[in-house]
Amino acid sequence: MTAFTNYFSDVYRTFRSVAIGMSVTMRQMFAPVVTLQYPNVKKAMPERVRNRLYMNFDDCIGCELCAKACPVDCIDIEVMKAPPTENLGETSTGQKKRIYVTKFDIDIAKCCYCGLCVYPCPTECLKMTDVYEFSEFDRNNLIYNFGTMTPMEIEVAKGKVKQNEEEQAAKKAVAAAQAAAAKATAAAQAAATPAPVPPSPAVLAPQPPDKDAQTPPKAE
Ligand code: SF4
Ligand code: SF4
Repeated sequence: MTAFTNYFSDVYRTFRSVAIGMSVTMRQMFAPVVTLQYPNVKKAMPERVRNRLYMNFDDCIGCELCAKACPVDCIDIEVMKAPPTENLGETSTGQKKRIYVTKFDIDIAKCCYCGLCVYPCPTECLKMTDVYEFSEFDRNNLIYNFGTMTPMEIEVAKGKVKQNEEEQAAKKAVAAAQAAAAKATAAAQAAATPAPVPPSPAVLAPQPPDKDAQTPPKAE
């Protein structure tokens, strides 16, 4: 092959290579895009996605079922049974609240998004949302405090619970004292009553048969 032929062969291969490359570029220019301009554009999440937990504290009855179901112990609840005279209101599902929830924290850094806490909740106040942007510089900011009772309210509630416990203890003491007094009275009455006299041996001994009664009447 001469140098002249080599020259045109190289030119042909160069143009062919450029044409192949440009055809790929042109095809991709009109293909549907697969990237998003995040964070300006965000991808829609699936309907049942499990991301950040949300809690509606107003509906919480303090049953602690969610904390017991959590496999990584990231729900921290503190509760106190309210006195029976206390009216804590109702949930939106109509259940009466009987327990003070003094603390309700979820450490979302530990959460594995299993959703096991959501299903046992009787008032449906726990939900998994589609929120996935909640990164923090400080890890402590990932502990979410859902409780709404202030320290002052907690102290007042503790005072009421303590007063109720003291009243119940006093009532029990009075009832126990009354029961003991009744028992002592019954024992004293039993001691004052004379014991029944046992029958004499003569009364208990067998009597001889009555001859007259056994003699048949004479025929006339
Ligand atoms: S989603 Fe799972 S890990 Fe997270 S708080 Fe609920 S039970 Fe615990
Ligand atoms: S299961 Fe629901 S109602 Fe019970 S303590 Fe947890 S969040 Fe509150």
